[in-house]
Order: sequence, then C-alpha cells, then structure tokens
Amino acid sequence: MRRPGGGTGGEEAGSEGLDSGRAAPEAPGSDGSGPLDLLVVGGGPVGLLAGLLARAEGLRVQVAERRSGPRSDSRAIGIHPPALALMSRLPPPPGEDGAPAHPSLAHALVARGTAVRRGHALGEGGRPLGTLDFGVLDAPWSFVLTVPQEATEAILARALGPVLQWGVEVDPARVAAGDALPGDPRWVLAADGRHSPIRQALGVPFRGRSYPHRYLMADLEGPEAACPGVGPDEAAIGITRGGLVESFPLRPGVRRWVVERDPEAGGNGEGPAREARSPEGPAGALASSEEPFPDEPARAELARTLATRLGVEVGGARCLMTSTFGAERRRARRVQVGRVLLVGDAAHVVSPIGGQGMNLGWLHAATTVGTLAEIRRGSARPAPAFRRLERRVARGAAVAGRRAEMNMVLGHRIPAGPAGVLRPVEGWLHGLRTAALQVLLGPIFRRRLARTFSMGGFEPPAAAFSREGAEAGVPSPESTSSRSTATPSEGAPPWSPPRSSSP
Ligand SMILES: Cc1cc2nc3c(=O)[nH]c(=O)nc-3n(C[C@H](O)[C@H](O)[C@H](O)COP(=O)(O)OP(=O)(O)OC[C@H]3O[C@@H](n4cnc5c(N)ncnc54)[C@H](O)[C@@H]3O)c2cc1C
Repeated sequence: MRRPGGGTGGEEAGSEGLDSGRAAPEAPGSDGSGPLDLLVVGGGPVGLLAGLLARAEGLRVQVAERRSGPRSDSRAIGIHPPALALMSRLPPPPGEDGAPAHPSLAHALVARGTAVRRGHALGEGGRPLGTLDFGVLDAPWSFVLTVPQEATEAILARALGPVLQWGVEVDPARVAAGDALPGDPRWVLAADGRHSPIRQALGVPFRGRSYPHRYLMADLEGPEAACPGVGPDEAAIGITRGGLVESFPLRPGVRRWVVERDPEAGGNGEGPAREARSPEGPAGALASSEEPFPDEPARAELARTLATRLGVEVGGARCLMTSTFGAERRRARRVQVGRVLLVGDAAHVVSPIGGQGMNLGWLHAATTVGTLAEIRRGSARPAPAFRRLERRVARGAAVAGRRAEMNMVLGHRIPAGPAGVLRPVEGWLHGLRTAALQVLLGPIFRRRLARTFSMGGFEPPAAAFSREGAEAGVPSPESTSSRSTATPSEGAPPWSPPRSSSP
C-alpha cells in the first residue's frame, strides 16, 4: 500500500494507518484484536457506505482511499427511498459537539438536502404535461432527496471516522495475486470505481455498451436559475423534439440543469461546448460549487438550449459549474473472485440519466456486506451465498440498466430529417411520445411511474443489520425525533410523507 503524496490528508484519518500494519481501530461488536474481516478499497460513496454497513454488522473493517481528502466535485445528487431506508438503520455522524445531531444517517442527509416530492413533465416550449407525485409512494421516505455528491461523501466520511484512511493507495496487483495485505483482511471489497484497477488486475471482463447520447449539465444560482411554474423544491423533466431536459433543486436558490446535446448541430447550433475542466483534473472532471469553474461556451449552449426547448431564460443566472458527460451500461462478468468482491461502479455502471448508479452501488454493497456477515457468523456457506449474491447483483444491474435506458429513450431528441420530407413524421413521433407520457402520468399508472423513477423494488436486504446494528444502538427507521434543520413545507418532519397527497 502506498500513500500518494504522503500524509493522511483528511482530518478524519486515524493515526494507526493501514499501511503501518498495526491494529485497526476497534469495530463495534469485535474485540479490537486480530486481522481485519474486510478491507474496503475506495472511499467514494459506495466504499464509504460499505464501511459503515460492515461496522454496523460487527465486522472489523478499514476503508482506504487514495485521494488525500474529500472530493470537491458533484456528480450524483439523487438519493432514492430504498437507499434512505437502508441508511435509516445506520447511526448518524457526530455533530459539532461530538453528540449525534440526528437519529440516523438518513436523517443527517435529509437535513443537508432537498426533499423533492414532485416532478413536472414539460413539453415543447414548456407546456405542462402532468406531474409525477412521489407522495403516492407507499414508503416512509416518499421523496427523492437531492444532495451534492461531495456533501454526501463528507457526511458518510464523518460517520466513518478513523475507519476511513485518506491518502492510502492499495496495490491492485497485490490484491489480485492474493498477496498479504496490512491488516491481513479476510475479504477485500473493491469499491474503486468504474475503471476499477482491481477488476482489471483480476482480468474480470466489464462488458456492455456506450450510448451515443451526450449531455451537458450545469449548476445555476439565483432567481434566473428557476424553472417557471416549478416550485423551488420540485423537479422538472422536459420531453421535447430537441431532446431531454432535466432540472433539480440542489439547495435554496441553486438548481442543476441537464440537457441532451444535439451532436448534429454541435451543441445547439454554434459549435460544441468544450468539456468542462476542473482544477483537479482532466476533461470531464467536475468543479465544485464552492470552487466555481464554469465553462463559458457550455454555459451559453445550455442557456440557448433551454430557451429553444422550454422557453426558459437562465442567461442571468450565476453559473457555478458545467460538465458534459456520456452514458454507458456495463457489468462485470462476476463480482466475486476468491477473497475479492466488486461493488459500486467497479461492478456495474448504468446511464446517469435517472440517477441510479450510486444508489444501486449502495444497495448492492448492503447485500454484499450482509452476505459476508452471514458467512462470518457461520449462518451461510460461502459457495451458495456467493452464487446468490452474483444472481442478485446481475438482476439489480439489469433492472436499473433497463430503467435508465427507458429514461434516455423517453426524452431522446428526434433527429431532424430533411426539411419538408420527414417533418410530419417527426411531429407524429413526438406527439405519440407525449401522449404516451400523459397516459403514464394519469391516475392509472402514476403510482407505478413514481415507483420506477424512485427505484421502487430495490428494497434493501431485510435481514441485514438487524442484530449487531440494533446492539450498536442504531435507531429504528421510524424514528423521527430529529433535530434536523430542514424545514418541510407542510410543517412536518421532512421525512414524513404529506398524507394528504396520498391517493
Ligand atoms: C454526471 C453524473 C451524474 C450522476 N448522478 C447520479 C445520481 O444522481 N444518482 C446516482 O445514484 N448516481 C449518479 N451517478 C453515478 C454515480 O456518480 C456513481 O455511480 C458513483 O459515484 C459510484 O461510486 P463508487 O464509490 O462506486 O465509485 P467512485 O465514486 O468512482 O469512487 C471510487 C474511489 O476509489 C478510489 N480508488 C481507486 N483505486 C484505488 C486504490 N487502488 N486504492 C485506494 N483508493 C482507490 C478513487 O480515488 C475513488 O475515490 C452520476 C454519474 C455521473 C457521471
């Protein structure tokens, strides 16, 4: 294990490093001695939550992250009800005074984010097509929460404390070769991202496809960033001939806008926007809202696109960040190889449209950690347990991948044909799509649609964290005695559904 740039960097880093080979910090439910049960490689959102889940299961765990400190970019913002349900079983991070300020990890995230209870579907020129109401969900968390990824990771890292070590790079070749690793872990969880060096060192194929779709996103601030007719804590999705538009509240006064780009026109007619660049890295890396790094051509393309498709003028808004991204769908052929288990983007990627990748990684991390805990307790035999795990991960990735594809197809631009020849066909196709969407938003299908858009059916494993978690003092999911500062519009705690909106 190496420390790139030396030092632990992060303020949470423990003094007894993984690469020192000394004893790891004591995990709840363990006696603090002996080898690690689990080494998590990667402190992205999935590795961080995997560490928390493992600790709640009573496993001795360390998380190693090669970055020297928390990330400053925001990719994933959407946190869905199944992930909130999972996190409501985990303890919150310590507050300023060291005492927990919220009943659970989920409540801590809710206090930092925006509970989106409703989405508006908009057609050509911003014409209202209907609303998607997450209040119809039959779940304690009947909303999609938006939190910038860097804030989510900061909360998870604070909850993890010294179990997380910054600036520690685990050598993938040693992991793949089965060589001894400091802490002598029984299992290694590779949460090392889409390019997973460990997956590559193991030679596990990562098959799938890249889509032709290209998107441009920006975080905009100020009254001009608003979407007319859409509340400050509501989302909007635009289905237009020119392509998909999405808009989400991020925090008061700030919205994330995403538009599908038009490659034929090089953006929207005046040349392609450059890839956004951040102070951290190469093209495609994102800048943080704290450290604005907007890209002017990208901002201008976004403003033109919104004006053309929805009639929304955002030109006067302050641009905090821009980025372009593509979409792909891939899955590792297997997620368990000897002592190594792949989780998160290392195991599967789905299109960012629909915002499922991080959530899927979290839920599969719960299944994976739960499987390891069962094996350690002796209540499951490794071979059948790992076969079950492989099947569940494959099924989950397939469902999420299909839904993400549906999201992209639903909003995909209808290519412009030669004027006068294909125009009627284009119009007919778009009209058909719009009518279908209106039917889906109607009374018969609205609950199903709300479930699909909020990862319904991806419930976290019921058995996980029931025993050790309870012993470790994890509050029940129903607990609502939070000191959260988030103010719900109804005056109720933000995680309790507005019952009046139920069907
Ligand atoms: C534009 C965009 C928007 C998105 N929006 C959403 C959304 O709204 N909701 C959603 O659910 N998903 C979303 N996603 C997907 C989501 O961002 C990813 O699924 C998620 O970040 C994957 O997390 P991860 O922890 O698996 O991997 P990563 O976030 O890639 O983290 C991997 C970590 O491993 C570390 N690492 C790698 N190798 C080593 C090593 N050898 N030793 C130590 N550390 C190592 C890296 O430094 C990195 O920090 C979006 C993606 C994009 C591109």
